[in-house]
Amino acid sequence: MNTYKANNESILRASEIIKSGGLVAFPTETVYGLGADGLNPIAVAKIFEAKKRPAFNPLILHIADKSWLKKLSSFENEKVEQLINKFWPGPLTLVLPKTELVPDIVTSGNPTVAVRMPNHPVALQLIEMSGRPIAAPSANKFGHLSPTEAAHVAKYLGDKVDMILDGGKCSVGVESTIVQLHNDEFYLLRHGGLSKEDIEKVIGEIKIGVADENKPNSPGQLPFHYSPHTPLKFFNEKFLDEDKKIGVLFFKENKYKFPFADARVLSASGNLREAAANLFSFLHDLEKQNLDLILVETIEEKGLGQAIMDRLRKATKQHE
Ligand code: AMP
Ligand code: MG
Repeated sequence: MNTYKANNESILRASEIIKSGGLVAFPTETVYGLGADGLNPIAVAKIFEAKKRPAFNPLILHIADKSWLKKLSSFENEKVEQLINKFWPGPLTLVLPKTELVPDIVTSGNPTVAVRMPNHPVALQLIEMSGRPIAAPSANKFGHLSPTEAAHVAKYLGDKVDMILDGGKCSVGVESTIVQLHNDEFYLLRHGGLSKEDIEKVIGEIKIGVADENKPNSPGQLPFHYSPHTPLKFFNEKFLDEDKKIGVLFFKENKYKFPFADARVLSASGNLREAAANLFSFLHDLEKQNLDLILVETIEEKGLGQAIMDRLRKATKQHE
């Protein structure tokens, strides 16, 4: 069994696991989180692998010290300060423009990052001892209920996490409220443990997030998308045209003599975790180069391969 009652000793061990790129399930006041080093893309890829989610979604970075917010996001807005002074630690997640420090896999390629300070002594101590933000979605497998006690996590994810910290039952039991700052206006993306009215008492009226048409039932709605500008297609030799600047994402190797403007290999050893960790940042790098076309190789839809292919399919669809 890898479940330990949370105390100074077990939390210290858990923080060492986080620092070395492992997975730790830990209690917050909302639900148990499946945590990894939020600045380590390979560690974050392990979260998606363990959850067996067939798609990526952006993760919340959990911090224990307000000063981390300035390292992870860049904004100038007094109301943000008012919100964090009033509601942190607590069930309020803020979505703000991200800095370079935040790996693209954490935000699923979005230019914004979600940050929260949980109101739970075990979570705060773990984050503090780890010395970095912890990326964590709820510690359940895709399609299962969110866990509110350690035994729930042990049952479904026990063999997938390096350690489970048992801190008793979660007190709030519902997810955090998510608010996004965009062009100096605040949008409520998801209702949760903190009410819209309580937020409005502090910063005035806020808007309700615009639902994503493609995902009408998605819990957190994403009104402002990262959408690539360069056409992206699945690799086929018929698209190779020497008059075009073509960038390409191969899975394991580039077997072609074609003069690509840029050719990237997601993982030379064919490791899906490494491929997932590189996917979003390589797409961004290619996107920045004003190419005529980006080609991506298909990969087998096994394990993380499903989430990678889901993301690539969405990206190719935007240009159909
Ligand atoms: P949770 O389910 O509590 O782990 O929260 C994750 C949710 O937060 C995601 O499904 C999104 O709805 C939302 N979220 C995280 N990052 C972002 C972001 N950069 N922009 C908008 N929403 C986000
Ligand atoms: Mg969840």
